[in-house]
Amino acid sequence: MTDKVSLLIKNGLVVTMDKERRIIPNGYVAIDGDKIVDVGKGDGTDKYRAEEVIDAEKGVVMPGLMCAHTHLYGALLRASPWFAKIEPPTDFMQNLQRIWWALDVLLTHEDAYAAALIGSIMYVKSGVTNFFDNISAPNSIEGILDSMEKAVNEVGIRGILSFEATQRRSMEEGVRGVKENERFIKKNNNDPTKLVKGAIYLHASFTVGDELFLMAREIANKYGALLAIHTEEGLVDVYHNIERYGIRPIERMEKLGFLGPDVILVHVVQAIDDELKIIKKHGAHVAHNAMSNMLNAVGVPNVPRMMELGINVGIGDDGYIFDIFENMRTTYLLHKVWNLDPRILTPQDVVEMVTVNVAKMFGVENELGSIEKGKKADVIIIKPEAPPTPVNENTVYGHLINTFTGRDVRTVIVNGRIIMKDRKILTLDEEKAIEKVHRTVEKLWDRLMSEGKYQLDVLEFKK
Ligand SMILES: [Zn+2]
Repeated sequence: MTDKVSLLIKNGLVVTMDKERRIIPNGYVAIDGDKIVDVGKGDGTDKYRAEEVIDAEKGVVMPGLMCAHTHLYGALLRASPWFAKIEPPTDFMQNLQRIWWALDVLLTHEDAYAAALIGSIMYVKSGVTNFFDNISAPNSIEGILDSMEKAVNEVGIRGILSFEATQRRSMEEGVRGVKENERFIKKNNNDPTKLVKGAIYLHASFTVGDELFLMAREIANKYGALLAIHTEEGLVDVYHNIERYGIRPIERMEKLGFLGPDVILVHVVQAIDDELKIIKKHGAHVAHNAMSNMLNAVGVPNVPRMMELGINVGIGDDGYIFDIFENMRTTYLLHKVWNLDPRILTPQDVVEMVTVNVAKMFGVENELGSIEKGKKADVIIIKPEAPPTPVNENTVYGHLINTFTGRDVRTVIVNGRIIMKDRKILTLDEEKAIEKVHRTVEKLWDRLMSEGKYQLDVLEFKK
């Protein structure tokens, strides 16, 4: 007697990431509709009749990877001629003034769509099935998240989309940013058919006054939505808060009643130990972006101490390198050299930072992050072309960090639907989509080269 299921993955090394962190050699995953109905050892075909069977060919079968923090519009700047035109920024603040804010004032809904399309394609191709994006586009606020949602849906992965609310130009724009998030949350978050959800995003505590903080908190409470904010990425954030409020950013957030288990603090590079203890006390999470921190030369957050305190840490790409395997490897290496201690971070620690930890951070640990009966069927199959040593239950975490790249991801399943098979995306015409994105990028770069300018007035953000 066999049960009927929609999809059966067989002949895989199943890295479940369940509570016992079970790894099943020669295992199967049975999926029916959008859910995982069984995980076990053996072929699975003796138990299940499947509409479709995927032979993993001894590849690694694991939960879809998740990115804790990104800016998909960062993809549009890759190798842009703008970098050759400007004076190279010497610090984090100039990086915003000369690059990010020079770009974001020019962004249109078409650009946002293109960013979400190419971003989602790059994610599928490296095994990422869920992410938390934050877009800044002060001259195209209303409706921009719908343009992005359209692109993410065309690819078919999950995502959390948010608009970066900031008072760097005016309080009025800050409120409009928060309202765009509220609109999108109302539209999507209670609709079970939607894979794309909303959240509230504040740019950073040096561009947001108390009033906007409180407004964001109130709306998050009203809808049970996530709150996220760039926190102590550069020293400007710390000094601004000390000068204006007499306290450090995380202390200020605590004083405002902003912190809680629904808050994701992004970066937390400059935090002192007292602040890490505050984060722990409130159960807030940290999105760590090692490659971006290195690129912007802002410093290295104390991730080992966060882990020691029991703070939940997930890995983000911050819109820089979208292959999550590169971000995993960098995270694994950075803290060793920074602390001159090769014992810091195991491969398994890092794999947790792109699976179960991010699921917890997004408040979906009961649905995603592991391969377990009853969970949503977000599953990837990875098979490297030439592994130097056997890939088995004892070596797989080591291979995930030290051997694999995004290009080794063969097959991606989201919500029970096959999005990519043998590296071919099934949901859209990849070549055409990339062509469309490039046409949009060319227009954006033309505007950037002719109209782009440093955004220097932003330091004088209004209260
Ligand atoms: Zn960021």
